[in-house]
Amino acid sequence: MNDCIFCKIVAGEIPSQKVYEDDYVYAFKDIQPQAKVHVLIIPKVHISSVNELEDSHKELIGHIFISAGKIAEILGVKESGYRIVNNCGKDGGQTVNHIHFHMFGGEPFGWPPF
Ligand code: AMP
Ligand code: ZN
Repeated sequence: MNDCIFCKIVAGEIPSQKVYEDDYVYAFKDIQPQAKVHVLIIPKVHISSVNELEDSHKELIGHIFISAGKIAEILGVKESGYRIVNNCGKDGGQTVNHIHFHMFGGEPFGWPPF
């Protein structure tokens, strides 16, 4: 087993507040929410970041975004809208090296985001 905290969450070795799960995807509440709704959507397999995505991940990444619509419905933000964010690398602000997509919602957001 590796030391990745998100792999441990998927394995149930670290507790999480699950929102959605299927064979390929796990979604759970962020431990430090930055919006009224803040959920992390991750693949169950370990991929470090967008930079490590390969052609073999095409279906998986498509599946994650299709799951996002379902997760938005579960969270009650499908109609009001939401934002999906991926942080990649140092300048992107990535702190956990298991690819993840933040889903923010429940309130309006400004743009640009920085
Ligand atoms: P990022 O900065 O894009 O890598 O996002 C990592 C996110 O993981 C942050 O928003 C953290 O609050 C969140 N996080 C870290 N550890 C946990 C945990 N054990 N359970 C839930 N969220 C976590
Ligand atoms: Zn991992």
